[in-house]
Amino acid sequence: KNFNDLGLAEAILRAVSAEGYTDPTPIQSSVIPALLDNSDVIGIAQTGTGKTASFVLPSLHKILVDKKPVAPKTCRVLILVPTRELAAQIGDSIKAYGKFMKYTSAVIVGGVKMGPQVAALTRGVDILVATPGRLEDHMGSGNLRLDKIETIILDEADQMLDLGFVPAIRRVMAKSPKDRQTVLLSATMPKQIRSLAQDFLRNPQEISV
Ligand code: AMP
Repeated sequence: KNFNDLGLAEAILRAVSAEGYTDPTPIQSSVIPALLDNSDVIGIAQTGTGKTASFVLPSLHKILVDKKPVAPKTCRVLILVPTRELAAQIGDSIKAYGKFMKYTSAVIVGGVKMGPQVAALTRGVDILVATPGRLEDHMGSGNLRLDKIETIILDEADQMLDLGFVPAIRRVMAKSPKDRQTVLLSATMPKQIRSLAQDFLRNPQEISV
């Protein structure tokens, strides 16, 4: 498959090309059309397969084609990740792939000052990348509401399980709109992650690479 056949907007294809990518990876070929089609997805993929672009590119595409002002203290896409390092990497990928379009994003992780995060959330962001603990801190302080979420992406779900984040993820999912799109990516599928998917994804397409 060619990137041009996946249904992505021109501004995004230009950014992909500027990154030097010529062809989509196998997970990108399967996951990008499924997400553009608003399907829920379980993606079983390791790091290094191009999994980040498989969910960041469709997220940016939807914001590009369905422009609307984001309400204060809300986000449209929430990407939950296990670690600060992964959050920062995804934040960098969003910047690279979104450089030819207008959108807002923020990375919300623990161990750093609340002030700048509060300021970003107060304005509202299209795409929010967060670790579960700090996300719940902001929810508890009234800095963020989840009621405008259109898509939730759980990246490295098995790592989040190992770090004890599944109860927090379940609380976050329960507070987000029922008609959202949900994407779960994991290198492995332990039974607690399988049951998380069963409880929170609707009719998911399962894609394994
Ligand atoms: P990930 O699995 O998301 O951590 O991506 C692994 C690496 O692959 C990153 O350095 C990406 O920049 C790179 N990458 C992602 N998609 C492609 C692609 N279609 N062609 C070439 N490299 C890619």
